[in-house]
Amino acid sequence: MTGLDVIAALATPAGIGALAVVRLSGAGAEAVAERVFRGRGPLSAAPSHQLRRGVIVHPDRPDDPIDDVLAVVMRAPASYTGETVVEFSGHGSPEAARNIVEALIDAGARPAAPGEFTRRAFLNGKVDLAQAEAVAELVEARGQRARRNALAQLQGGLSEQIGALRRGLLDELAPLEAFIDFGDDVPEPPGIRRMAATIAEVRSGIDRLLGGRERGRMMTHGATVALAGRPNVGKSSLLNALAGQERALVHDAPGTTRDVIDVEIVLGGYAVRLVDTAGIRATLDPVESAGVERARRAVKEADVALLVLEAPEPPGEDDRLVAALIEGRPMLVVRNKIDLGDDATCREFAARVAGSDGAVLPVSARRGDGLDDLVARLSGRITIVAGDDEGPTMTCLRHYEALFRARAALERATGALATGAFADMLAAELRESLSALGEITGQSVGPEILDTIFSRFCIGK
Ligand code: GDP
Repeated sequence: MTGLDVIAALATPAGIGALAVVRLSGAGAEAVAERVFRGRGPLSAAPSHQLRRGVIVHPDRPDDPIDDVLAVVMRAPASYTGETVVEFSGHGSPEAARNIVEALIDAGARPAAPGEFTRRAFLNGKVDLAQAEAVAELVEARGQRARRNALAQLQGGLSEQIGALRRGLLDELAPLEAFIDFGDDVPEPPGIRRMAATIAEVRSGIDRLLGGRERGRMMTHGATVALAGRPNVGKSSLLNALAGQERALVHDAPGTTRDVIDVEIVLGGYAVRLVDTAGIRATLDPVESAGVERARRAVKEADVALLVLEAPEPPGEDDRLVAALIEGRPMLVVRNKIDLGDDATCREFAARVAGSDGAVLPVSARRGDGLDDLVARLSGRITIVAGDDEGPTMTCLRHYEALFRARAALERATGALATGAFADMLAAELRESLSALGEITGQSVGPEILDTIFSRFCIGK
């Protein structure tokens, strides 16, 4: 299907904007564009990648211009899709953009499916599958870590690593297959020891990539920080202070924040969801105790917990209950309301809960004291939880799933080597591992997988 039909779509968000870009791609893109563009001279005479000014008209109504635009032809193969692409930049009017797309359809193009431009780029070998998926990751990136990582993946960072792992396996598989096919004419089977070493090396490369799973999750879905503490210690005030905006309910009566309320901010380059939990305490009120249960869960699922205490008060039973709940989890202890006083037993309790390498931060959500320090500590804690981010981090579940299969096949290959199994068994495992790795970069995927991947793209991408 690729290249034969010309696809058209609005590439910028639907709505009023400074510009609206409409895109066309396919071997006949120039001919379709020619039918709707009126400028000084035909588009076919314009050099590739150079802007031309003109108006767009409907092919049936050449005297009724739709919009004044800049047009550019990017001739195959030097374009995003690898086919000839024409782009029109119009005035950001949704009405004009809709009319331009209609004119192009009536001039012979068809509406593009979601991600179809990028799918064509993949099918034409402009990018591999990991790079094509990075386009969606980049567009959706929240926080600079996710953006940087997606761009590196788009530029081939992950593909290179997968390619190196595949080459390692191919180097072992080729002589093994020669031995299987022409055993009598090949003097010796390939060296077992070298093969075991290569497999171990590829496995550790796979393990390195697998080790980025938490970080990948945090890049894609964001990290979570739960504010935990008994009612009225100032959790919602703290959340509001951190978010710099009033989003949560602040009330004087204890136990009023019954729902888990979130706000998203960026810390340490990661999108971070701050979850304001209901006050945790023993209660008989059924509405409130449901909230308490949700709070417990939120704390358990969070990447970092903030234990919020009241600095001017000695710790009570409810504070101990919350502290027990977050014990052993990555956390920071916040002593809020420091503007009202500084109780020594609270100080000691906080230090004990935080442990030797924990941090206790005196703050005042009301006055803003200590908030910068809290943000810095929290960013640091999140970066530690995410782990070292040298090299590419895989963010797609699909990639991890393929990588686990590649690894399992190598484990079986190692077992086969150790028991002196047949060469064809070994070769089958290596082939399976290669094929799983190839699913990441797209050497071995079927059309259904491509459908699933590209359906999550926007139209026009
Ligand atoms: P939550 O139940 O833990 O969410 O507590 P809230 O954020 O609703 O705060 C409870 C009460 O403490 C409110 O009256 C807040 O205005 C007050 N409060 C919160 N933080 C501070 C603070 O740092 N200093 C002072 N003086 N009052 C605060």
